[in-house]
Amino acid sequence: MALNKTIGTVQERSLGTQVNPFHMLLQQLDLAREHTGIPGGIWEILRRPERALEVSVPITRDDGEIEVLTGYRVQYSSARGPCKGGIRYHAGVTLDEVKALAGWMALKCAVVNIPYGGGKGGIACDPTRFSEREIERITRCYTARILPLIGPKQDIPAPDVNTNASVMNWIVDTASALRGEALPGIVTGKSLELGGALGRREATGRGVMFTTIGVLHRLDIDITNARIAIQGFGNVGSIAAQLLTDQGAKVVGISDVSGGYYCPTGFDINDVLRYVETSPGHLLAGYSVPGMEEITNDELLTLDVDVLIPAALEAQITSRNAADVKAKVIVEGANGPTTPEADLILAANGSVIVPDILANAGGVVCSYFEWVQNIQCFAWEEKETNQRLGRIMQRAIAEVWDLSTERQISLRLAAFVLGVERVAQAISLRGVFL
Ligand code: NAD
Repeated sequence: MALNKTIGTVQERSLGTQVNPFHMLLQQLDLAREHTGIPGGIWEILRRPERALEVSVPITRDDGEIEVLTGYRVQYSSARGPCKGGIRYHAGVTLDEVKALAGWMALKCAVVNIPYGGGKGGIACDPTRFSEREIERITRCYTARILPLIGPKQDIPAPDVNTNASVMNWIVDTASALRGEALPGIVTGKSLELGGALGRREATGRGVMFTTIGVLHRLDIDITNARIAIQGFGNVGSIAAQLLTDQGAKVVGISDVSGGYYCPTGFDINDVLRYVETSPGHLLAGYSVPGMEEITNDELLTLDVDVLIPAALEAQITSRNAADVKAKVIVEGANGPTTPEADLILAANGSVIVPDILANAGGVVCSYFEWVQNIQCFAWEEKETNQRLGRIMQRAIAEVWDLSTERQISLRLAAFVLGVERVAQAISLRGVFL
């Protein structure tokens, strides 16, 4: 199976602005600082990743040529437990991007209160340039090079943009072979046959659905017939679209790297899913139904809808387009889709932003369930996973919402305050060792 959801690179990057995600994280942390009583020394610990590893990844191409890629694994914080976070294959991957994503993971795990720190990994490459066998060789070499850092009790990777269950399966196999022991719990998001969890594939989209419904309910907006636009029709965006339409919402705008699509009467998401199952590159390009019009990705972000769900990459809503965003509620399916400058513009216009570290936490919560099952060598039924996921997400939504109401701060600030206070408390309780 080739990576079944590869996405282009140059086009994507040109749609965003040149924002350094790590600077974005630091800005967000600094904004949260004044709402916490965290001492300066602990704050300095919070502003730096614990460990960052850069590796070279040489592979032999199918034509015999050697090519050398660069990969990273960053462990931002292990104060609350083993580091946890996905691996991304994308031309735009940089050390600063991985550091930011690892930091957001640490805060996300704290917001939903699961016993993990935060990590992230990535390889700077355009996966569409490589065959499936080449992707396997890249993955195995990268695994061998980051192996000193990862393990079920150290740091547990998972899929992210352009990586999937096959990539996780190769990591399990490589690590188990090199360490001489069965290591299913070294990654999450692997195939069911190797210890993957039922419900993991859908979990991030399901969490987006829970947060959307939870926030709309608190804002007195009826989910039935709520008009929704979703940027990105990959794992997160497509599942969120499906589950939200199941709840009665109308998904009127969808997009992927091939462009945007608008259907005022609402898309039949199951029909769209059937289309991308077999379309070239699994893209929306070529999809057509009566009443639908093609729009640009920029137009998708500014559609007149109740809810906008950016579920593609970071820095999509920026100071350039934020003033044109009309959605009442923005639910961040992607990590870091809104820049801090755009945040201010959206807030001034009265939009409610449900931050990534809450909205897309369903994936890591279910990864936690997968890891627990691996450790116990015991598989749960999907119903149990979904029920537990619902309970954890409802609790986190309520905690963030209540803190935001109590302190009169935005949901993003409330989630950051909740997250950093929990990480800071763990650091303080453990004490500074070396
Ligand atoms: P994916 O590769 O499955 O899908 C990404 C989608 O975004 C594709 O449809 C792609 O064509 C589209 N896309 C890329 N650039 C775009 C652009 N500029 N405009 C419109 N569409 C564009 O990735 P995914 O797993 O769905 O992840 C999406 C986001 O969600 C990422 O930010 C990821 O870090 C985050 N996230 C994913 C998970 C998970 O469990 N998969 C969990 C938490 C957060």
